[in-house]
Amino acid sequence: MGYSRPRIKNIYPVYKLDKNRFRIGAQMNITREFEDPTGQLWDFVKRLDGRELPLIEADLQAIYPEVTHDDIVFALELLDKEGFIEEYQDVNLVEERYMSNVNYFRRYLGSYDESLTVQRKLNESSILLLGLGGGGSNILSLLAGIGSKKLTIVDYDKVESSNLGRQLLYKEDDIGKLKTETALREFQKMNSSVSINAITKKITSVSDVVELLDGIDLVICAIDEPPFVAQRIVNEAIVKVGVPCVFGGSQVSRGRVYSVIPKKTGCFDCLNIHYTKTSPNFIDQFIGFQKIKFDPPTIAYAPAILQLCSAIVDESVRLLTKYTEPMSLSTQFEINYETGASFCHKPWPRYEDECPTCGKGTVSEWEIFNHYNS
Ligand SMILES: [Zn+2]
Repeated sequence: MGYSRPRIKNIYPVYKLDKNRFRIGAQMNITREFEDPTGQLWDFVKRLDGRELPLIEADLQAIYPEVTHDDIVFALELLDKEGFIEEYQDVNLVEERYMSNVNYFRRYLGSYDESLTVQRKLNESSILLLGLGGGGSNILSLLAGIGSKKLTIVDYDKVESSNLGRQLLYKEDDIGKLKTETALREFQKMNSSVSINAITKKITSVSDVVELLDGIDLVICAIDEPPFVAQRIVNEAIVKVGVPCVFGGSQVSRGRVYSVIPKKTGCFDCLNIHYTKTSPNFIDQFIGFQKIKFDPPTIAYAPAILQLCSAIVDESVRLLTKYTEPMSLSTQFEINYETGASFCHKPWPRYEDECPTCGKGTVSEWEIFNHYNS
C-alpha cells in the first residue's frame, strides 16, 4: 500500500445515508456501503484529501483518542481494497483537453500520477491507421480525443455519397475528394497538436506496410479488402518488424477485434493453423467462400459500427499504456450489435514451431495458405 498522501479519488461521491451509514460510489458494483455508528470512519474518510498521513492520524486522534495507528492502517487497507484510494501527487498536469481521459483512468489505477502517465504515454505514441472507411474514419475521430504524438493515415479511396451514413468525418462537399486529404483537414481541426501524415496508397503487399512501420508503436488495421487477404498482409508485415497491431472487422450485425503482439501472442496465421487443427470444416468453408467470390452490398450502420470503433480504440489504448488488461490478445473479442452483448472467443495459441509467419514453420505445410492466393 505505502500511501503517504492518500486521498479518496474524487471521481467517486462520498455521502451519508443516515446517522450510521455512508457510501462511497453510486454505480452498481463500484459502490461500497460502510456501517459507521461511531462516525470515526466517516471522519477519517473526509480527511483523505491528499494531506500527509501523519497529519490525518494526529487530527483524528485529537477527536478520537482511542484510535490507534493500526486502526488507521486497517481502515486505509479497507478503502484501498475497493480501489477508492490514490496517492496524491502535486505533479505537472497534462493538457486540459485530456484531463477527462485521466479521470477515467483513475478508476483503474492507484496513484494520480500513474493516471497522468497513461495520458502522457498516449501523447508520446506513434500510431499507424490503415484504412479510412467506415471503421477507420470513425477511429480517426476517436484518436483525436486520445491525442497521440504522431499519426499516419493511409487510404486510396475517394469520398462517395454512399459513405455519408456512417463515415461521419466526411461532409457533403467532400464527395469526390480523396479520403486522405479530407481526413487530414478534418483531423487538424480536431487536434492540431498531433503531427499527422496522410498517405494516399492502396495496400497490396507486405512491403507496402513494412515501409510505413518505421518508428510506429501501434498499428490499427481497418482495411478488409480483399477479405482476410488484407489482414494476412498486414499481419506478416507487423510480425516482421515487431509492431503490435489491433485488427477489427464487422460482418452484418457482429463486430470482432483481435490483437497481435509479434512473437508473444498467436498471429493471424497462427489463427489459420488453429482453425485448421480444431475446426473440421474450416478449409472447405474457406474454399467455398472464395469460390463464389461473395461480394455483398455494404452492410454498415453507424450506431453499430461506432461500437466496434470504440472497442478498437480502447483496445489500442490498453495495448499502448496497459492502464488495464487488453481484451483481445490471443482471442477474438466479439460484439453483438443486436443485443449489446460481448464475449471472447476461445483463445488461440502461438504456434512457434509450425507458423510460417511468426514461427519456424513453412507455408507449404499448411493447405489453407494456398487458398489465399487463388
Ligand atoms: Zn503465427
